[in-house]
Amino acid sequence: MPGLHSRTRRRKFSPLYGDGLPPSNEPRRARPVLACEEAFLTHGADDMRVGLGTDIHRLEAGRPLMLGGVEIPFDQGLRGHSDGDVLLHAVTDALLGACGLPDIGELFPDTDPQYAGADSRELLRQAVRRAATAGYRPSNIDCVVHAEAPKLSAHKLVIAESIADLVELPAERVSVKAKTHEGLGPVGEGRAIAASVVAAVIPAT
Ligand SMILES: [Zn+2]
Repeated sequence: MPGLHSRTRRRKFSPLYGDGLPPSNEPRRARPVLACEEAFLTHGADDMRVGLGTDIHRLEAGRPLMLGGVEIPFDQGLRGHSDGDVLLHAVTDALLGACGLPDIGELFPDTDPQYAGADSRELLRQAVRRAATAGYRPSNIDCVVHAEAPKLSAHKLVIAESIADLVELPAERVSVKAKTHEGLGPVGEGRAIAASVVAAVIPAT
């Protein structure tokens, strides 16, 4: 019985088009090559590494709200031993994880007085330097900020540019998305902001 695996329906795998797209009997349409695809084609899958970073901080009045190294106008900020920049912490952890390095809590412990009120941008810069020492540089970074408020749509581009500058990437290689939690849990109830980040790294040379 003809099925998905029949000769007429079989589709070729292509790193540029994904598994099965487009069908081999249809003309291919050019589209921009994504950063991860370029890394795959240039370095091979074995040399591209991916890391995941997540973080959550409690909101409280009387603090500036820092997200991605940008101060966002809001009546609350994020509590933390450092400046509480939940997004930069997740970016830092994703980058460190991709390189197989110790995580942000191990490198910059919140029990160490030297990191009290620390500028999270500097922690990320240090992580980029450690990545370079380990032989890697960022290839692209994809971020999700989980926040019920404030609305971040007007700030996403500025935040992406800030992160790109910190990790020395073109801005188009950093993506920032914002999600609400539909009123559910600490984020949905407006008590916290969280971040989820995936970072890909490639050999520095
Ligand atoms: Zn944090």
